[in-house]
Amino acid sequence: MSDRETIEAEIKAFIEAAQDVSVEQAAERMGARGGLRRAGGSELVGPCLFCGGEDAFSINTAKNAWNCRKVGYGGRDGISLAAHIEGLPQNLDRREDFLAACGAALGEAVPDGAEESEEDRAARQKKRAAAQQKAQRDAKKREADSNRYREASRNRARERLEARRKVFDGFGFLQYLALRLGCAPDDLIAMDVLPPFAGTIPDEPYFHTRKNRKVAEKLGAWAAMALPVIDAGGATIGAHITWMDETGQKGRPSIPNPDKPHETLPTKKMMGSHKGALIPLLGFVSGPDGTIAPRAGCDRLVTGEGIENTLALALAEAGTALFARTLYAAAATLGNLTGKADPKSGFSHPTLKTPKGRPQRIAGPVPHPDFLHEAMPLPAGVTDVVQAGDGDSEAAMTLSAMMRGETRWRLLGAQSACTLWPQMPDGQGGFPGCGFDWCDVIGGAVAPATEEKETV
Ligand SMILES: [Zn+2]
Repeated sequence: MSDRETIEAEIKAFIEAAQDVSVEQAAERMGARGGLRRAGGSELVGPCLFCGGEDAFSINTAKNAWNCRKVGYGGRDGISLAAHIEGLPQNLDRREDFLAACGAALGEAVPDGAEESEEDRAARQKKRAAAQQKAQRDAKKREADSNRYREASRNRARERLEARRKVFDGFGFLQYLALRLGCAPDDLIAMDVLPPFAGTIPDEPYFHTRKNRKVAEKLGAWAAMALPVIDAGGATIGAHITWMDETGQKGRPSIPNPDKPHETLPTKKMMGSHKGALIPLLGFVSGPDGTIAPRAGCDRLVTGEGIENTLALALAEAGTALFARTLYAAAATLGNLTGKADPKSGFSHPTLKTPKGRPQRIAGPVPHPDFLHEAMPLPAGVTDVVQAGDGDSEAAMTLSAMMRGETRWRLLGAQSACTLWPQMPDGQGGFPGCGFDWCDVIGGAVAPATEEKETV
C-alpha cells in the first residue's frame, strides 16, 4: 500500500469507529452528560453545553437521539452531537468539519494526514467562539425579554387588585361566596369566614382571543371577585379573578365561546404568576412591606384547588379550636396544589382510553424530586396539612394527584398530610369521584351530574 492508501485506510477505520459511538457515549465524552437529569423513561434533560438554556438540551438513550431546542435540531448519532457541542455546522459537508466531529465523538485526534490545516482549525475555533458568544447574548436577551414580560403581567395583576372594593352595592364577592356556600352573607361575616384580602371589582371586562386572531376582544363586563396570589415570601405576584352573575349557574356568567358556540368560556382567570404561589383565604394578615403573612400561631393548613371548596371546609370548622390555628389557602390549579409527578410513577387508567384507543396515561402518585418547590409553598410554622378533596373530578386522576400532594407536603417538612373527601351528613360520598364537592356538602345539596365541569 502506498502512504496515501495507508492513510485512507486509517481514516476509514477512524470514521467507522466514530459512527459506532452512541449519543450517550458522545455526550459523556464531551462532558455534556453530567449536567443532565432524568426526565422520565430514557430521556435526560438539561442545559446545552454549547448554547446554554435551562432545559434546552435532551438525549434519549433508548432512541439514541439528542435534541437542542435552542438551535431547533438534533440527531441520532454521536457524531452529530459532538459536532453541535463543538460548534461545527449542522451539515458536516466539509470533510474537515466531519473528521473533527468524528474526533470529538471518539475523544481521539484526527489521524495524521487528514488533519485540518492550522488556518482551518484557527478559523473553526474562531467561528465556534463567535457562535458561543452570540448564543449567550441571545440567551441573555431572551431572559431579559421574559423577565420584562413577567413583570408587566404581574403589574397588570396588581393594578386589577387596586381596583377591588370591600363594599359593593350589588352582587359582590360577599354575596357570591354566600350563594356558593349556601348561607346568608351575614353568617359569613359573623363566622369570620370572609377572606380579608378578597374584594369586588365593579365592572371587570372579559377579554378573549379568538382562534387565529392576534388581538383579544371584549366579550362583556361583569362584577368580579379578586384575590391576590402570593409567593413564598408573601409578595403579591398575581391575581385570581372570578366573574360573577347573580342569575348565572353557580353565580357566574355564561360566556359562549365564539369559536364553539355550544361551549362556554372559563369564568375564572389568573393574571401574573401563580406557579409556586398560593391564594391566601383565611388566617393571613398584612405583613411588612406590603406582604401578606400567615398569622402567628397557625400550625395547620387547609388547602384545595378551588377557593370555594377550601372555604367550604373553613365554614364547617368555623368557631372551633381547629379554626383558630388554621390557615386556609387555595392553590388555583391542581398542579400547583400537588406538584409535578415523577414520570416513573405514571400509570394507565384502568378504563379510560385516548381518542386513538390507547389507555389514558395518569400522572403518578410520586412527587418529582426536582420540582418539589415549584408548587404551592408550605407556610412557615405549619406542621399539619389537610387537602380538600374534589369529588366531582375524575377519580383515578384526582386520587393519584392528592396522594402525590400528601407526600410532597411531608417532603417539604409537614409532619402529617391527609385528604378529606366530601361526605354528606348521611354518609353518602366520601371518596374520589363521588360526584360532589365540599360546597355541595356544606350547601346541603348534591349538584346534578350534568353540571358544567370546573377547571380552576
Ligand atoms: Zn445547543
